[in-house]
Amino acid sequence: MEFGNRTRTKSKTNDASRATDNRYPHRLQLYTQPPSDTISLQEFEELAVERLKVLKAVETVGITQQKGTVKYNELLEKEIAATKLKDSILRIKSVHPEKESDNSYRDHLSHFILRLAYCRSEDLRRWFLTQELDLFRFRFQMEDTRSRAQFLNASNLKYKPVSREEKNYVVKQLDGLDHMSNIDDIEYYKVPFTEALDLVRNRKVFLQSGFAYVPQDDLVSILLSVYRTLLSQALTVTARALPSMEEDGRLLPMLCGLSKRYLGQDYGARQQNVGAVTADMIDMLSKKSFPLCMQNIHTTIRHTHHLRHGSRLQYGLFLKGIGLSLEEALRFFRTEFIKNTDVDTFDKKYSYGIRYNYGKEGKKTDYTPYGCMKIIMNNAPATGDSHGCPFRHFDTDFLKQRISTFGLTKDGVEGVMKYVKGGHCQVACAKFFELTHGISDSSSEVEMFIQHPNQYFEHSQKLLNGPAKTPSTPRGVKIVNSQTATSRSSGSDTSIKVETMDETMSQEQMQAMEDDMV
Ligand code: SF4
Repeated sequence: MEFGNRTRTKSKTNDASRATDNRYPHRLQLYTQPPSDTISLQEFEELAVERLKVLKAVETVGITQQKGTVKYNELLEKEIAATKLKDSILRIKSVHPEKESDNSYRDHLSHFILRLAYCRSEDLRRWFLTQELDLFRFRFQMEDTRSRAQFLNASNLKYKPVSREEKNYVVKQLDGLDHMSNIDDIEYYKVPFTEALDLVRNRKVFLQSGFAYVPQDDLVSILLSVYRTLLSQALTVTARALPSMEEDGRLLPMLCGLSKRYLGQDYGARQQNVGAVTADMIDMLSKKSFPLCMQNIHTTIRHTHHLRHGSRLQYGLFLKGIGLSLEEALRFFRTEFIKNTDVDTFDKKYSYGIRYNYGKEGKKTDYTPYGCMKIIMNNAPATGDSHGCPFRHFDTDFLKQRISTFGLTKDGVEGVMKYVKGGHCQVACAKFFELTHGISDSSSEVEMFIQHPNQYFEHSQKLLNGPAKTPSTPRGVKIVNSQTATSRSSGSDTSIKVETMDETMSQEQMQAMEDDMV
């Protein structure tokens, strides 16, 4: 791939040639050949973000639903349909067949861009591999028999259905198995058993003379194994080639930031809700509508009358996002801090940082609140710090004890901890939200996904008080019991959609702020 800033004309030429090329004999691909086109940096970034949205949807739906079920397929289809890659990923009959190639091209390119971003560490590679494999499984299973055969052919995978006689022989051997009622409709593929080890291990295939007879529905397992091998090798090769790539200073910051990027609604720049919350309302709001990360910081400031730098940033920007004006933020922090220090010290040492958050000092940037990924991935709290994500950074026993103080049953606590133990902090947070807002019980699947502390707050306020009518309406002063919340929420759609892209304050901005404050 080559990148340029002035490539729109070139891109149009590329668009035309894509429409007529036959590089993509099938919309499904194993991504064996890297693209060699020239694209603009803008297109590069847009494709990266859109594929990331798709993979995040694959991850979320995969955690909350059982893979391969009807509900899983429906939900995933709905989530992917909300991204700009929907025509490239979903099996939609195109009204413009001439655009098929362009759709495949966007699929191809976006996959390779994320390879660059996700080959950098073992953790990133594992995450990318898992989501891409799940996406492939979903897409393959959505294809019909004819299309699957075309894909095998186009990908040089020599798996052919066995002849009728051979199939009859297999069926005879399997005679007596109760799931064989629709045997006439099933195609069998004869595959060397070494390529079907997963199926052999699970005793799902008939074995004879070194071959496994794989029913068509299980063929995806073999393909996934092929794809896994190809992709993990390719990621290792890409990681080795990365240093030369990093010489291009335009790409490095974007590639590094992709894995932490928040893809949801922008809670900072719009600032339509300035003044919706005052300093006096924070205590009340924190009890029911703040996520655990912000409650933790709030408790710290109330008890110690002080916050360290990381907490001041995380909490200060969150409060700004819920509608606390600069004046009210200064009032709130001053009231607490001067219990420990004098007003002069506060004005000299701390008010600068608060004004900085609101774009009144330093670079005068209107900073946006941190998203969950940034809080989870950045700067783990040290002893004495209160920033970070409790579902990620708290000790397990302490977290258990902490969430049980919210009136959760033993099963409810276990329901949350199940996700924490699996490393799914944001799903654990969503489960905690559902249980504390009376939306679900301990046994039900999680219906939503928390991406941002301000999303948590907004969603809680909507459930408790209904949508805010005007930007200046003070929201959430009324705390209702969970029974009321349940009845109000019963008809509401609790799923959160990915809407716009936003990047929260970067490491460089934090550094700049620290430098400015010295
Ligand atoms: Fe806060 Fe997000 Fe962690 Fe929830 S998942 S506690 S909102 S950082």
